[in-house]
Parts: sequence; C-alpha cells; structure tokens
Amino acid sequence: MQSPSIKDVLGKLISLTGERDTNSLEISLAQTLFDLVAPGAVVIYRAVNIDKHIFSATAIGDEAYDGMIPDSLLQALEECARTAKCVSYKGDGALPVELYPLMCAKSQPLAVVAIESTQHEKHFHEVTEMLLQIYQNFIGLINDNERDTLTGLLNRKTFERKIGKVITQIQNSSKRKDDQSSRQYFLAIFDIDHFKHVNDQYGHLIGDEVLLLFSQLMTQGLRDKDLLFRFGGEEFVGVFECLNAAEMQMVLDRFREKVGAFSFPQVGRVTISTGFTDISGFDVSTQLIDRADLALYYAKNHGRNSVYRYETLIESGELQESKIESDIELF
Ligand code: GH3
Ligand code: MG
Ligand code: MG
Repeated sequence: MQSPSIKDVLGKLISLTGERDTNSLEISLAQTLFDLVAPGAVVIYRAVNIDKHIFSATAIGDEAYDGMIPDSLLQALEECARTAKCVSYKGDGALPVELYPLMCAKSQPLAVVAIESTQHEKHFHEVTEMLLQIYQNFIGLINDNERDTLTGLLNRKTFERKIGKVITQIQNSSKRKDDQSSRQYFLAIFDIDHFKHVNDQYGHLIGDEVLLLFSQLMTQGLRDKDLLFRFGGEEFVGVFECLNAAEMQMVLDRFREKVGAFSFPQVGRVTISTGFTDISGFDVSTQLIDRADLALYYAKNHGRNSVYRYETLIESGELQESKIESDIELF
C-alpha cells in the first residue's frame, strides 16, 4: 500500500474536524484511519468503564465485527488504556492488530484504536499516531465546550442539544410500528439540601469539593448510558432510559440513599432532593424542566431527602397541573 498523499490527509482532516458530535466523530476517525492506513479493519473500543471491563466498539472494515471481545483482547485493551502505550495483539489466526491508546485532556483513557493489518510499517505507524494526536486535541476542545469545568459533567448548554436528540428518538420509535421496545425516558433534577449551610460553615472551597464528590457519586452510582449534567450551582440533571416509572423511582431512591450514606470529608453527611418527570415525544425541554422542578420543590417542602415524580403527584392531587403554588420559588 502506498503512503497517503498530503492532499488525501488534508481532505480527511477537513471532514473529520467538521464533526461536532462525539459519536459521529468516532465513526469519522475510524473511517479516516481505514481509508488512509489500514487495509484490514479499524475498531475503536471506547473505554466506557475500564474497572468493570466495559468497552463499546465502533468497527469499520472487511472483518465484520461480531460484538464479542475475547478475554485475551480485553486484557490487551486494558493494558493499552492503562499504560497509554501501543500494544501489539495477535488473536487466534487473525491478522496482527496494533492497539493505540486515545487519551482525553485529563490523561484519562478515552478509547483504544485497534488497527488490523498485515503490514505495520513505520510510516503508517507514524501517520496513525499523528492523526490520533490531532483527534485527541480536537476532542479536548469539544469536551471543554460541552462540559462543566469543576465536575466534568455535561453542561447546561449541551443539555438543549442532547435532550432534543432524546425527544426525536422517542418520536421516531413511536412512529415505527414494529418497534416493540417499551423503554421509557425520564428527566430528573437533583438539588443538594441546605447547601448554603455547607458554604457558610466550611467555605466555598469545601463546598466545591462536595460538588465534585457528588458528581463522582453520580457517575459511579448511575449507569454509563445515563446523560448527566451540571445544570447550575448545586443543581444537577439526569436523563434516563428505564423500564417504567416504578423502576425509575427505585433507581433514584437507591442513588439518594447512596449519597446520604457517603461521608464527605469535613462536612460529613449531605442529602439530596429529587424531582422527576416522564419524557414524551411531544415535550419541549422547558416543559420537562418545569415539571421536574415542581416535583423537586414538592420534595423541598415535604422534608427534603426524598424523590417525587411529577405525574404521580398530579394523579394523587398533591399538585395541580400548571398551577404553581405561590410559596414555591423557582430557580
Ligand atoms: P435547599 O435545601 O432549599 O436547596 O437549600 P440550599 O441552601 O441548598 O438553597 P439553594 O439551593 O437555594 O442554594 C444554593 C447555594 O449553592 C447558593 C450558593 O451559595 C451555592 N452555590 C451555587 N453555586 C456554587 C458553586 O459553584 N460552588 C459552591 N461552593 N457553592 C455554590
Ligand atoms: Mg438550588
Ligand atoms: Mg439546594
């Protein structure tokens, strides 16, 4: 295979850096590598959760990817992600595979790029490493833009785009007659109880540490596919896919208990109140926030450290539809 021309490389970079969505960007990277350097296949294994050995794969190439990751490959992927170094892998009878680490700005492993090829020549290796470096820099820029600097969760600006996608997905799946999935989506707002006291008693820096630790409890305690946002100061939003409202209530209650049981350094125990609502294909983002917010403020007015669902409160008559009680202060 010939070395790629400068024009080829620049053309690929133009289309790669035209993407803004991280999923499309990943597919574009796999395609670019495939076109430029790999005669076999390119698979990007995203490091979803290394401790739980979870990688999700995006594959481009002749070798159809069957979704199974053999144990020996899993070990090689983990070695590559943890050491941030290239690793050579040879599976049963398959072509040799070179594994390249992709790291994010905080030197956390983002993904491992597996390039299957009969020839791992030096110049292909160099082109690949340079392309991955450009990709890492670009992903860093996108992350800076999409994420909150203190907690690393998605920021409020990103919320509008992500929730729009979820609503469109619900609309599309309800249009498909063959769609048998009965999964439902929910939006929850979490607000730390009496957080002003934490700041007043221990200072803003300790307050910030509580926010950071709380965001880590969110990423550990909730599932990898859940969308988690820092919405404002000590208000967080989650978008969840769940079997039904009862299961959602259980998941959120379990998380509330997990937070309540955590010992925050110096501060000790902190509790949260949560309000959630069902997401339908007819919703717009502001309605969702308003409904979850009303359920949240119901929790604040009824003892805090609890989880309420807007629709249940309406059905039971505890809340009236689109009537905001005068003593409720909205943020
Ligand atoms: P409630 O139980 O009713 O929610 O009481 P609260 O004291 O938590 O009240 P509220 O939610 O109105 O107050 C939020 C406080 O969060 C106000 C502000 O001092 C603090 N805060 C907002 N953003 C930040 C931040 O980035 N860092 C820190 N340390 N504190 C913040
Ligand atoms: Mg608040
Ligand atoms: Mg609060």
